[in-house]
Amino acid sequence: MSYIALESIEKRFGKQHVLKNIHLELGKGEFASLLGPSGCGKSTLLRCIAGLETVTSGSICIDGIDVTGRSPKERAVGMVFQQYSLFPNMTVEQNIGFGLKMMHVPKQEIRERVRAMLDTVALTGSEKKKPAQLSGGMQQRVALARALITRPKVLLLDEPLSAIDAKLRKDLQTEIRRIQKETNITTVFVTHDQSEAMLMSDTIHIMHEGVIEQSGCPSDIYVAPKTPFAAGFIGNYN
Ligand code: ADP
Ligand code: MG
Repeated sequence: MSYIALESIEKRFGKQHVLKNIHLELGKGEFASLLGPSGCGKSTLLRCIAGLETVTSGSICIDGIDVTGRSPKERAVGMVFQQYSLFPNMTVEQNIGFGLKMMHVPKQEIRERVRAMLDTVALTGSEKKKPAQLSGGMQQRVALARALITRPKVLLLDEPLSAIDAKLRKDLQTEIRRIQKETNITTVFVTHDQSEAMLMSDTIHIMHEGVIEQSGCPSDIYVAPKTPFAAGFIGNYN
């Protein structure tokens, strides 16, 4: 049975039809990329999975539970965005521990879980720093740690590497995949970067104007693109 199942998702903003009959099934621990050009509906789909947008119709199941009408909190998802959304006045450890504090987890347990998470994202030694003292790449590690510490069922990443310079981006691609494998967390990764999707994903889902045009593992999509759009888009990969 699939761990995440999106069934016939439609999303309209007024007259604009942004998501069209989306079907998506992911297994537990799968790393799936939503790949497509700007404006095709990737962020909207991710926000629908998170519960930050309501779907116009269709259903969303996570871990066997129909969460379609449920709040983001009830869905147990962790999210990281392109723009660093860290609290500027808090230290790294306060940022990472924030979600647990809100859940009234005891202080000692927060300390231990933050320490373990700092180790996971390779930030031990930076716990007393403020976000402004960190590089963009390090800030995204903090954002990742903050998303993971509450042990969400699903990790949703919306172009988390787009604002990071090319050299660091390569390192973070590897890091994100390492952490994802270590935690075995089911992940939906949004990107408009073909090579990033090809390198990182178990499965790629090519989006074009609100439709998923093709789903498959990177090599299958590369060898046998099903639509002219998919061929053109993936064809830029080298
Ligand atoms: P992507 O992430 O692939 O760049 P988006 O999901 O952000 O695409 O946007 C898809 C389309 O939906 C765009 O045309 C965008 O203008 C529109 N859209 C996104 N969010 C809203 C909103 N809250 N209200 C109205 N239109 C929106
Ligand atoms: Mg987007």
